[in-house]
Amino acid sequence: MQAHDALYRDGAWRPAVGTGLIEVTNPATEEVIGRVPAGTAEDVDAAVRAARAALPGWTATAPADRAARLAALGEALAARREEIAATVSAELGAPLSFSRAVHADLPIAVAGSYATIAAEYAFEERIGNSRVLHEPIGVVGAITPWNYPLHQIVAKVAPALAAGCTVVLKPAENTPLVAQLFAEAVDAAGLPAGVFNLVTGYGPEAGEALAGHAGVDLVSFTGSTAVGQRIGALAGAAVKPVALELGGKSANVILPGADLVRAVKVGVANVMANSGQTCSAWTRMLVDADRYDEAVALAAEAAAKYVPGDPSDEKTRLGPVVSERQRERVTGYIDQGVAEGARLVAGGADAPEGHERGWYVRPTVFADVTPGMTIAQEEIFGPVLTLLKYEDTEEAVRIANDTVYGLSGAVWAAGEEEAVAFARRLETGQVDINGGRFNPLAPFGGYKHSGVGRELGTHGLAEYLQTKSLQL
Ligand code: NAD
Repeated sequence: MQAHDALYRDGAWRPAVGTGLIEVTNPATEEVIGRVPAGTAEDVDAAVRAARAALPGWTATAPADRAARLAALGEALAARREEIAATVSAELGAPLSFSRAVHADLPIAVAGSYATIAAEYAFEERIGNSRVLHEPIGVVGAITPWNYPLHQIVAKVAPALAAGCTVVLKPAENTPLVAQLFAEAVDAAGLPAGVFNLVTGYGPEAGEALAGHAGVDLVSFTGSTAVGQRIGALAGAAVKPVALELGGKSANVILPGADLVRAVKVGVANVMANSGQTCSAWTRMLVDADRYDEAVALAAEAAAKYVPGDPSDEKTRLGPVVSERQRERVTGYIDQGVAEGARLVAGGADAPEGHERGWYVRPTVFADVTPGMTIAQEEIFGPVLTLLKYEDTEEAVRIANDTVYGLSGAVWAAGEEEAVAFARRLETGQVDINGGRFNPLAPFGGYKHSGVGRELGTHGLAEYLQTKSLQL
């Protein structure tokens, strides 16, 4: 799509105060594919004022009317599915087939889910002699990352709008084009002016201005733990609620009776998807000592099938990572894994063959990884899988929980109940049991340093509400 050289504010595309531009680069070709404004603190201020002005009107609309607007938004996105997929492929580098199935279809489904939820949600309840009102929290400042760029926007904006809040969005600087497309969809859906506002810009300037703005009632942030901590501190000082979706280092625990071939295959696919740039990726595979060597061989074999290629080719399963900086970060971790004594069984830090251009990383698998190694503790955010060995169930629980994070995970066992019993012991927000598939209505969010709050479904809506009790 054609980039706008403007910000979407108060129902129209308007020139930015700042004259700076952000260049958007295709990670497969290294070509600049668009330029968008680098919004400043002044631009953020104007957007927050528009959101505040629109708040009373939007808050007063009936939930059924908000539901109708959200349904229209879902339809406007669905009508542009191919364009969404192509845009995310171009600015993120995700393979086109994955872009369609996940980067486009997931946010379309989530937008639709909030149309239903807005219509059905009990915004009022009775507790004894009290009428409890669930009211919108106010103006929301949403700050999103680049790895699932449209999904992360919709997972904040749709529930906020359903709740009756108004929004200022600051999307990631690497992927602003799909954010502009989203603003066009909002416009097409006929949302009142000022209810949704977009300020593209850099984190330390526009992001920081939004997080610290006195006119913002709640900040919802997805991204790195370092920035999340800073936003949490700013919100704490201002006594404001905050929602944080941060990093992860999730465990894929394969128990002795599990179907090893399937568990390893699905586990490798989970890590290689989106070039490993998934906060909920199962980047640590835990296997019992008896079947560890077999699992290592299966994982190396499965990883080799993810041949890096052109994201616009329908057959490609592994595209580049988002930026040169991200490639350096990922290959730095691969070097560190080798230096700390892990055994490389697939991939490595050198560039894949035939890719002189583009920020490609080879699909990489490490064996003989121990819990204390850096690659077992830190989020790499690239196509890198680590395999750890455990002797018994107790040790498996210990290793799985031995991280500051707790976002996601998987358990595979001979039977569902055995896997569920193990999952109860995990300090993490989501666990897929024997390959259970992603549920866009289930609460998503982290334990420990993986975050505060939950997104998606009714739990996601509740983040944008505050309660008032009327005693009768
Ligand atoms: P980041 O946290 O720097 O950026 C996320 C968003 O926050 C972007 O919109 C950015 O502009 C904004 N931001 C940056 N600094 C800010 C500040 N001081 N105040 C307010 N907003 C600010 O993440 P990144 O640089 O895009 O990626 C770095 C690492 O973060 C990745 O390698 C990965 O490990 C992790 N990450 C995690 C997730 C996730 O979903 N949990 C997503 C993206 C990145």
